[in-house]
Amino acid sequence: MGRILVIIAIVVVAVWLLRRALAGPRQGEVARKPAVEGDLVSCARCGVHLPRAEARAAGERLFCSDEHARLGPGRAAD
Ligand SMILES: [Zn+2]
Repeated sequence: MGRILVIIAIVVVAVWLLRRALAGPRQGEVARKPAVEGDLVSCARCGVHLPRAEARAAGERLFCSDEHARLGPGRAAD
């Protein structure tokens, strides 16, 4: 009975290694893309949402444009 479990375990590991080897080059690609594209931030000045890659950082805050970064965080109604 124990032998059968060992054989099953070996088969499962072998299949897993085979699938991993076949999918090799794509591994990192799937994990990275959503993190970059889906990471939206809001402007500390006007509150507009934009991708983090396009945001301007000033201190600890993020802004939608150079002008808003210069003006700094203000009230949305201002
Ligand atoms: Zn803004």
